[in-house]
Amino acid sequence: MSLNPLRLAVALLALSTLASCGPAAAQKPAAPAPAAAPAPDPRLERARAAMDSIGFPMELRDGFESESARFLALLEPVLADLASDPMRFARADKLVALPEDYEAADLALLKPLGVAVSRDDHRLRAGAAAALAAMSKAAATEGVTLVAASTYRSYAYQETVYARWVGELGQERADRVSARPGRSQHQLGTVLDFDPIDNAFAGSKPGLWVAANAARFGFSLSYPRGLEDLTGYDWESWHWRWLGLPAATLQREFFGDVQHWLILFLEAWTRV
Ligand SMILES: [Zn+2]
Repeated sequence: MSLNPLRLAVALLALSTLASCGPAAAQKPAAPAPAAAPAPDPRLERARAAMDSIGFPMELRDGFESESARFLALLEPVLADLASDPMRFARADKLVALPEDYEAADLALLKPLGVAVSRDDHRLRAGAAAALAAMSKAAATEGVTLVAASTYRSYAYQETVYARWVGELGQERADRVSARPGRSQHQLGTVLDFDPIDNAFAGSKPGLWVAANAARFGFSLSYPRGLEDLTGYDWESWHWRWLGLPAATLQREFFGDVQHWLILFLEAWTRV
């Protein structure tokens, strides 16, 4: 009898396939192949890497992991703001200083915009100034007057402020209440102190109104109560930084409403 070489090859192949399967696998019908897992979203991987690098707290990580699609939806407009205006999200804290010569190009006087001011020369960057004007107007319709008591400060001005605190309190205590030159958020031109510059502000009518409404206008509290170890500063209920509505919303929804974590995250995002 003649051997068909093709048949022989097929038979050998079938045998070898069987031999490679375990007995259980050979008896069970093959399970349907599982649907291929969707490829991980590279933005989520990048967010995780950024969070890892800043030691982002686990309880906030859980919120991010359980609602990651919503996180990304809120992050997108923040990344657009970050791309068009990186200084709005710049770090200025105990560890990272701004360039000595950094001065915002778009500083605008507040008084002509209808903002109540303690001095006529108070200025903020255009976006922050417009947001503050809108917020002041909204507060006024509810019978609340917001007064800007400190706004943009140049590097040189911060030098004199810090030196005055050191003279009054000594350096160690001064470092908890005042920033060294280059380390003040006020140099960003997006930060203001409301009147009074004192935690009596928190319980005042303007203070309560600001705490309840500032996020709607894109403002965020820089130094919350009880977070001194994280931010490096005592609680400052009067000191607010404008980040824009998308970032203020993201901060509230996914960063425990802690500005410090959002700023660190965005800095890490550009790095990882
Ligand atoms: Zn301040």
